[in-house]
Amino acid sequence: DKLGIALVGLGYYSTDLLAPALQETQHAYLAGIVTGSPDKARKWQEQYQIPEKNVYSYETFDQIKDNPDIDVVYIVLPNSMHKEYTIRGAKAGKHVFCEKPMAVTAADCREMIDACKNNGVKLAIGYRMQHEPHTQQLMRFAEENTFGPIRMITAGAGWRWDNPGDHWKNKKSYGGGAMMDMGVYSLQAARYAMGEEPVAVAAQQYTRRPDVFSEVDEFTSFQLQFPGGALANLHTSLGVGMNYLQVNADNGWYRVDPFSAYNGISGESSNGPIAFEAGNQQARQMDDDCLAIINGQDLMVPGEEGLRDIRIVEAIRQSVAEGGRWIDLQG
Ligand code: NAD
Repeated sequence: DKLGIALVGLGYYSTDLLAPALQETQHAYLAGIVTGSPDKARKWQEQYQIPEKNVYSYETFDQIKDNPDIDVVYIVLPNSMHKEYTIRGAKAGKHVFCEKPMAVTAADCREMIDACKNNGVKLAIGYRMQHEPHTQQLMRFAEENTFGPIRMITAGAGWRWDNPGDHWKNKKSYGGGAMMDMGVYSLQAARYAMGEEPVAVAAQQYTRRPDVFSEVDEFTSFQLQFPGGALANLHTSLGVGMNYLQVNADNGWYRVDPFSAYNGISGESSNGPIAFEAGNQQARQMDDDCLAIINGQDLMVPGEEGLRDIRIVEAIRQSVAEGGRWIDLQG
């Protein structure tokens, strides 16, 4: 059984990763597209055999409610647009997959969760790593206390953006910046590696290229404190490439490097290698989510999980604005 997915926004991630992954999925297929570009529509229709009746523009998007071929709309738009299209998708009676970061503010995330609940549809956030086997092993280490209590976590996620130009990721109004783009991977890593929610956060930011990164952060470091006192030291950047996650516990250590790349995830530990058959991450993610919907089970990464991150991102913004002081995350 396969659910029909409509990709909303045919930019880099839809074109290079999601559409190819949908050629490998067992429980999902590329049923439709939503795009503002008739040229792109024609090209995609030809490449993926998409019938005219399953092609929508942003103006005709709401009519998707009358299309039984489409079970899920997958929002792959600039971050600031996730909220509007998630809510419109929910009102059209379609399940929603929404890319990370879920939205620009926690209030927006809550509206998205409510819209999906009120319209009886599921909401999954595109955090592909939580579907990835090395990552799931780290979650089990935390759950099973394999290396004893975790004391310190270190992670960095970034890429060197050499020609940023005039891109939405440079704009505050679009929810751009390093923290929103790659910082959520470091944040996710600390949360899933610890298996607990942090109680406080402090953050620092700077910009090396103020001509391009005038509105948003180019480099952000932040620290999380967990209930038992454990600390995470986390980095993100659009100025230097980095991709590592290290966990130090009382009885050993483990390190995954890279930890959030599309492939080549690789791990070692004081007990030996951490090695799994990785497969296609995006195919795995969409299959997990579609199968959960087909079987009426809980999603692995629901809207509430996206909200947890954006609450912390808001506290990071507050900490930076207040000189890097610790912000309480409880209550
Ligand atoms: P992109 O800029 O390449 O694509 C965005 C698409 O939105 C483009 O096709 C653009 O034409 C369209 N669009 C529609 N209205 C627009 C408007 N008003 N302004 C700008 N663009 C508009 O971006 P992308 O890299 O594909 O990222 C899209 C989303 O996917 C983001 O939320 C991003 O964080 C997420 N993403 C996730 C991963 C992952 O690994 N999970 C990887 C890359 C991107």
